[in-house]
Amino acid sequence: MTEPIERFIRNVPDFPKPGIVFKDITPLLQDPTGLRSSIELMAEATSAHEYDLVCGIESRGFIFGTALANELGKGFVPIRKPGKLPWETASESYELEYGRDTIEIHRDAGDMGKRFLMVDDLLATGGTMEAALKLVRKIGAEPVACAFVIELAFLKGRDKLGDIPSHALIRY
Ligand code: AMP
Repeated sequence: MTEPIERFIRNVPDFPKPGIVFKDITPLLQDPTGLRSSIELMAEATSAHEYDLVCGIESRGFIFGTALANELGKGFVPIRKPGKLPWETASESYELEYGRDTIEIHRDAGDMGKRFLMVDDLLATGGTMEAALKLVRKIGAEPVACAFVIELAFLKGRDKLGDIPSHALIRY
C-alpha cells in the first residue's frame, strides 16, 4: 500500500557546504515501504503523460528513473557526467554557483523522436533539469514531463523548465 514518504527524508545541515540543508534520500531507499511507495507515487503522478522512455540524471535520477521504468514496462536512458558514456554523445554545459558542469547522453538514445519522461531525485534551482531538457532536444527526443521526489519550491527551479509539466512528490 502507498504511504506518505516525507518521514523518510533526512535533513543534513551544512552538507556538502555551510548553509546547504541536504535532503538525504538514503533512508527512503533503505525502507522497503518507502522505496515502493515513492515509485508508486511517481507512477501515479505521471500517469496522464504518454511517453516511450524514462530518462534519468546521474546519479540519484538513475535509482528512481530505472525503478519507475521497470514498474511501467518502459526502457531507461541515462544522462551521465562527462567521459562515462562509451558511444557517440551529445553534451550540454550549464552554470553552477561556482563554475560549470556538463552532462552527456548517447546520440542515438532518442531516435525517431522518442518521447521522454525526465526523472531526478530533487529540483533545486532547476539548472540541471534545464540542461537535461536542452540535451534531449539536441538528440531529437521530446521531453514530455519531469518528475522529482523532492522540489525545493522556494528556489523556483520550475520557472526554468518552460511549459513542460513537472511533478514532485514532496514540496518544501
Ligand atoms: P539544481 O540544478 O539546482 O536544480 O540541483 C539539482 C541537483 O542537485 C539534483 O541532482 C540534486 O540531487 C542536487 N541537489 C541540489 N540541492 C540539493 C539538496 N538541498 N539536497 C540534495 N540534493 C540536492
